[in-house]
Amino acid sequence: MKSTGKAHVALLTPLALLVAAYIFYLNVESMPALVQEAVWWSPFVVFLPAMIISCRFNNSRVFFVLLVLLLVLLSMYYYFLRENAAAPVFYSGFISPVLALLIPLNILIFSLLKERGFLTLWGAFRFTFIFLQVVMIFWLAALQESGKLAFASGHLAAFDFPLLALPSEPSAAVFILAGAVLAVKQVLQRSYHDAAFIGVLAAMFVVIQTKEFDPLTPIFFAACGIMLLISVLQHSYAMAFYDELTGLASRRRLEQDLMKLGTKYAIAMLDIDYFKKFNDTYGHDVGDDVLRFLASMIRGVTGGGRPYRYGGEEFTIIFPGKGRKEAALHLEKLRERIAARGFALRGKDRPKKKPKKIKSTGSPKRVSITISIGVAEKNDKYKTPASVIKAADAALYRAKKKGRNCLSF
Ligand code: GH3
Ligand code: MG
Ligand code: MG
Repeated sequence: MKSTGKAHVALLTPLALLVAAYIFYLNVESMPALVQEAVWWSPFVVFLPAMIISCRFNNSRVFFVLLVLLLVLLSMYYYFLRENAAAPVFYSGFISPVLALLIPLNILIFSLLKERGFLTLWGAFRFTFIFLQVVMIFWLAALQESGKLAFASGHLAAFDFPLLALPSEPSAAVFILAGAVLAVKQVLQRSYHDAAFIGVLAAMFVVIQTKEFDPLTPIFFAACGIMLLISVLQHSYAMAFYDELTGLASRRRLEQDLMKLGTKYAIAMLDIDYFKKFNDTYGHDVGDDVLRFLASMIRGVTGGGRPYRYGGEEFTIIFPGKGRKEAALHLEKLRERIAARGFALRGKDRPKKKPKKIKSTGSPKRVSITISIGVAEKNDKYKTPASVIKAADAALYRAKKKGRNCLSF
């Protein structure tokens, strides 16, 4: 799912967490015994709230990745903490190579799936898919332990190969494939969840490579849990404070920012002219394209103006520290730029991608889009942000009355 807000820097959080986790790991031996003990429990302490929150916030993809990680971690604890000297050897030789294939595969699959809930048919399929993998591993492990499978240890193991030979090795190939797909997805869609999945993939790659069962494992699993939890919070924050269609800050964000304004500011209300007619003529989807296009123009407003989508086809711009006259100079420039630009209609038969050669006959039709603007400032008459907005709205009404495509005070 695409996220708005600051999703273009979403990879910074997982990256920072991985670095922090590794530095922590390098220093963990010199830490108090209590901390060293707590490290082994830390993944569960993180996973529990992460799973509850991702479930409550309906982020099923994150939830299922957490579930997969939890099962992987439990399998490690099961084999390594048993009072059986052969168990860790069996794990490293057999379970780990199988997981090395399944972990990146699951991350890839769950990152590509759509949010379809938990208590739905889709959710049931996903739980079943995970459950079948657990059953398969138990079954294969039983066969292997009884000697029926005679799986050659090291055949699939990631860590028995030099770094340069990685692509020829199946697990690394799946890791690389998953990493490439997620990277492309992240470039195209910029989502907090996908950024976290990339971080998880990187962490699991490191965990799978380590032969030792040392604190690196729980520390990296805890880091994965934190990454995924943060991505859920970031995504929810973006949903609350950014408008999904245009990517502009939302009305809710505006209400908050209004409270922070100082003693001097101007507020402008913008409204598209005859937009209902436009929708009726070209359809609601083209109308949405216009809103996106206008948002990108409005984002380019000069003079330090901060744009918001007020709602529907109305936008608000705050100019902190500016009077209405000064703000009007920048708003007029914006209004003229929008009116001069026009909106290029995409014909029904026009390919989605821009053709290399533009046929002289088939050039896209441009329709004129204009906006009307009302602007007001804080003064002795309008003392609160709410009253300034009201005054700007009244000014907008006057601009419409004046004939539209103009600005009024
Ligand atoms: P005016 O010049 O007086 O502003 O005329 P108008 O038609 O723009 O004004 P009116 O308020 O009557 O219509 C607003 C229209 O904006 C109604 C609705 O169809 C359209 N609209 C509001 N929100 C959206 C949206 O999210 N997407 C699309 N496509 N249209 C929207
Ligand atoms: Mg309107
Ligand atoms: Mg309008």
